[in-house]
Amino acid sequence: MSAPLRFDVLTIFPRMFDALLDEGIVAKAAGNGVLEIEVRDLREFATDKHNSTDDEAYGGGAGMVMLAEPVFRAIDTIRALPSREGERPWVVELSPQGRLFDQAKAIELSARGWVVLLCGRYEGFDHRVREAVVDEEISIGDFVVTGGELPAMMLIDAVSRMVDGVVGKRNSVEADSFYEGLLDYPHYTRPAEVRGMKVPEVLISGHFEKIRRWRKEQSLIATLRKRPDLLRGARLDDEARAMLAAIEKAERRGE
Ligand code: SAM
Repeated sequence: MSAPLRFDVLTIFPRMFDALLDEGIVAKAAGNGVLEIEVRDLREFATDKHNSTDDEAYGGGAGMVMLAEPVFRAIDTIRALPSREGERPWVVELSPQGRLFDQAKAIELSARGWVVLLCGRYEGFDHRVREAVVDEEISIGDFVVTGGELPAMMLIDAVSRMVDGVVGKRNSVEADSFYEGLLDYPHYTRPAEVRGMKVPEVLISGHFEKIRRWRKEQSLIATLRKRPDLLRGARLDDEARAMLAAIEKAERRGE
């Protein structure tokens, strides 16, 4: 059996990750060995007696810059992990300048086996970190947050869901938004009527083929209305293409 997917996180705020590691599906997977997640405090790799991890910027400016050497020392320690001998970790810097994170990237990273996540603060890391050890910069969106910890947690969560054994029912992952390039269909649960609003009849019909078609149609409708851009890259089979043509025709007629 191959080694579980492993994340090593480098941060100056390791306790932020308690939220991820104490409760929920990712915590459970890390607890039962389906995933390995190690959060490391960059201060432990500092080189001075104050455990410094940042300093002023060359050239001036208000923001502090994170030191390169603690990162290099941490990466050296991680790369030398005896349990991963012969493997090389993929080093990701969370950065607003990176490629936008999406489901395809989550699937790709889940196959990497071993991922190191660098969480910046202040102005980010000394640029030499990027040049020397970073394989890829990843952004969670075109906005800036104060640190890489929340982006890293989002990434770990999304990537972990792609690992067999993390989410109980595999087909629930595959039916989720983006997996097939479409948005998810609407979900309902008991009771069949809430404040006068009824569950769509088809879902209580017990007719599996009709339910399957209804869900597929609803997925296409949601995507067309909310994220039509996704339809360009979606993998549509003949049935979906025919459904979409009918939906578009109905929308044009204002139905
Ligand atoms: N000076 C940097 C810039 O403009 O590119 C922004 C630094 S930001 C305040 C501090 C840290 O938060 C970054 O080093 C990065 O790790 C993280 N960060 C901020 N926004 C992010 C985003 N959209 N995606 C991923 N990480 C982000």
